[in-house]
Amino acid sequence: MIEFKNVSKVYSTGTEAVHNATFTIEKGEFAFLVGSSGSGKSTLIKLILKEEEASSGNIVINGRDITFLKSKRVPFLRRSMGVVFQDFRLLPDKTVYENVAFAMYIVKATPKHIRRQVPMVLSLVGLSDKAKCYPHELSGGEQQRVAIARALVNNPSMIIADEPTGNLDPETAWDIMNLLNEINARGTTIVMATHARDIVDKMKKRVIQIDKGIIVRDDRKGGYRSEI
Ligand code: ADP
Repeated sequence: MIEFKNVSKVYSTGTEAVHNATFTIEKGEFAFLVGSSGSGKSTLIKLILKEEEASSGNIVINGRDITFLKSKRVPFLRRSMGVVFQDFRLLPDKTVYENVAFAMYIVKATPKHIRRQVPMVLSLVGLSDKAKCYPHELSGGEQQRVAIARALVNNPSMIIADEPTGNLDPETAWDIMNLLNEINARGTTIVMATHARDIVDKMKKRVIQIDKGIIVRDDRKGGYRSEI
């Protein structure tokens, strides 16, 4: 569960990237975050991940107010979230298996748990036969599947995705959306920032629209809308 209560973010430059945002994303929801470039989508995501601090207001994640969370507790918060980026961000000198295993290694999972869990998530994303490949040996869609496997491997309650289909051709983008939909159907909350109008229109999920830092629309089963 993600709850924003009157959250504003003013950067040190004086830019107010988010103004008085209030919304709740319940456990198990799938929510798109839409808005033109510079509207504040990435800032909202960084606030959820606590990569940026809110200037005012409160942010509650899974029942816990993270507004004043001590920095040494932030890694525990991040464990409840899997993050997926537009540019995949895989480690180029590690195999698919190692990329996913590494996410477990850094949270000190046992080798036994890693050996059991990594093949399971690779199978879930349809990449069991690519475990020994390096990222440069994969297509863009396959690389994003690895990134999704990595995001899922520690069983987060939510996936936060920032333009996950931005670097993919339309057909591959739909493969990734179907995968995210499947993951959501298994109970994981998904928050996805996107510019992909056709995807938002066809998926009929919740749409939160931000414009110049202000939440201007929150539709339960929305479309993208032409004016964005
Ligand atoms: P979006 O993801 O929708 O493109 P951003 O959240 O990246 O929007 O940006 C919202 C506004 O905040 C923009 O005006 C941008 O220039 C500004 N901004 C983003 N990051 C920073 C930063 N680190 N320092 C100062 N201004 C920033």
